[in-house]
Amino acid sequence: MICVVEVDPRRSRNMAAIRSRDTAAELALRRELHRRGRRFYVNRRVLGDRRSVDLVFPRLHVVVFVDGCFWHACPQHSKPPRINTDYWSPKLARNVERDRRTDAELRAAGWAVVRVWEHESLDAAASRVEAALDAAIDRSPTCSGQLAQQ
Ligand SMILES: [Zn+2]
Repeated sequence: MICVVEVDPRRSRNMAAIRSRDTAAELALRRELHRRGRRFYVNRRVLGDRRSVDLVFPRLHVVVFVDGCFWHACPQHSKPPRINTDYWSPKLARNVERDRRTDAELRAAGWAVVRVWEHESLDAAASRVEAALDAAIDRSPTCSGQLAQQ
């Protein structure tokens, strides 16, 4: 397992400031992909605005997000917040909506988007990223010629 963090909504206003940057799950995935020989940029802005992407593979046009179960309303783990419901429910709904919009914009700009949940096993998460990278190589016109010769 990467790590599952139970978030106490009472502390979460404070946590909003540190949000989903360099989380334990993200660091673990970076380390694992590095160990597998993958190289990438972290926390890059690729859409030309303030939104940043957790991992970027620029040549293959693949981006990866590591989504926290609380912030991104994981279907398996997110429970409706019991405290400050009026504040949290719309806020989390907006997060999810923004994620989908970000995905659509990235895909329209030619990026393949992989979203990994923080609850996913490290091995499964890294393998999903690698599958997207392999698929990106297959899509690339310059590489497919080489592959056909093998
Ligand atoms: Zn989850």
